[in-house]
Amino acid sequence: MNKTKELPSKGLSRDSLFTNMEEVRKNDIKWKEGKAFSLVFHGGEEISNVIKDAYCMFFSENGLNPSAFPSLKRFENEVVSMTAKLLNGGEEASGTMTSGGTESILMAIKTAREWAKENKPEITEPEFIMPISAHPAFNKGGHYFGVKVVTIPTRGDYRADVKAMREAINKNTIMLVGSAPSYPQGVIDPIEEIASLAKQNNLLMHVDGCVGGIVLPFYRKLGAKLPGFDFAVDGVTSISVDLHKYAYAAKGASVILYKNKDLRRHQFYVTTEWPGGMYGSPAVLGTRPGGAIAAAWAIMNYLGEEGYLKLIGTIRDTTAEFIKRIEEIQGISVAGDPDMSVLCLVSDELDIFQVGDAMAKKGWHMDMQQEPSGIHLTITAAHAGSIDEFFADLRRSVSEARGLGSKISGVKTSMAKGLLKSLPKNMVSKIVKNEGKNIGAGDSRPEKMAPMYGMMAAITDDKDRETLVKDALDNLFTPKEEDGYRQ
Ligand SMILES: *Cc1c(COP(=O)(O)O)cnc(C)c1O
Repeated sequence: MNKTKELPSKGLSRDSLFTNMEEVRKNDIKWKEGKAFSLVFHGGEEISNVIKDAYCMFFSENGLNPSAFPSLKRFENEVVSMTAKLLNGGEEASGTMTSGGTESILMAIKTAREWAKENKPEITEPEFIMPISAHPAFNKGGHYFGVKVVTIPTRGDYRADVKAMREAINKNTIMLVGSAPSYPQGVIDPIEEIASLAKQNNLLMHVDGCVGGIVLPFYRKLGAKLPGFDFAVDGVTSISVDLHKYAYAAKGASVILYKNKDLRRHQFYVTTEWPGGMYGSPAVLGTRPGGAIAAAWAIMNYLGEEGYLKLIGTIRDTTAEFIKRIEEIQGISVAGDPDMSVLCLVSDELDIFQVGDAMAKKGWHMDMQQEPSGIHLTITAAHAGSIDEFFADLRRSVSEARGLGSKISGVKTSMAKGLLKSLPKNMVSKIVKNEGKNIGAGDSRPEKMAPMYGMMAAITDDKDRETLVKDALDNLFTPKEEDGYRQ
């Protein structure tokens, strides 16, 4: 039985409350020490303090109705405008702030759907086309808004195969998508070719600049030769940019930009019949945290061009050092030729998941990827300080994986493959169910992902894979005995 927590009959004292919270967080990833390679973008204490102060200053304000808070209206408009300028948005460029990359992408899809209703009314079953490497937020958006997602493969260099995209265009297509760069391997899709294809076919074209939208303009200013990825490319109609990643804003801050205001109108939602009054809302959220808007404005103004150049310069140099040291270790390498600070570690000799598990045991948090099997690394300024420790542990982890461990996992995976093939479907689902239960149990972080990914690789049925992940989610969001803390 689950131990279901109830509201305490009496409130805790401030002291025991915060003592408890410190206790509960003791197994969290040590992001301040540069142990996380996604999830947290830490720009150091000075930056943290600026966004915390700005967030707290506007802690109670609500961006739902900017006319009540001219301050937030001004901050949001200026944040959107500063971001659009960085990405060569012209006079007509416009956008809104959102809670994150996912919401920005959802809005781009919703906008495309509404645009098509007006401009291509003959389409009743709209579709958009994206490379397989595009973020799952696009799948989510297609699912939420009833727009079919058509995926095309990437080429050997992990960039979108534009030829396949051209062939996938049909009478129902409304939008094409490219990433700058993609999350899995950190490479920029051929945005110029995709945009020109979109233009020829009278389609919208979205660039996912969630992770790269702030970094790439500064890489260019620092001298990098990059292909076109922003509004300077004819045919690009919208761009998503996360500020809570490399702009070092507080969480809950992203921007969705459009080439012009006509496009943005398709994003707005309005209902005029509610007894509570006329209701107009720019994006998904109703109540919008003023703190996130204020903190984004604060950090952009605090750092300015000079601050970002310095910060992103450090990120660029740290990334170069990571790549150099990875290539020095026999058995592992960086996939493809990443355009910025997002890397994927692969191996054609070892079970890379075993390397990942060994690193997790040593306190590093790195996500595992599939097809190809890899370990994800998003390099931030925080990693400049942990690089020596990281490589000492990585070398050790690689030798560990070279030993017994990798063989066991290999055997396990191939055994699982053989076993799963010979079992009837419903039994596969049952096995899968049990495996799902082991994920996320307890309050510690999972250390063994290799067997889990081995299983996943062995399961070829999409429904079974979905079942496994849904079981894991069920498990994660069900309180357990061991999740309790001292009272
Ligand atoms: C992070 C990311 C997203 C999604 O952003 P969230 O803020 O996590 O919702 C989308 N695309 C790319 C390329 C990303 O890196």
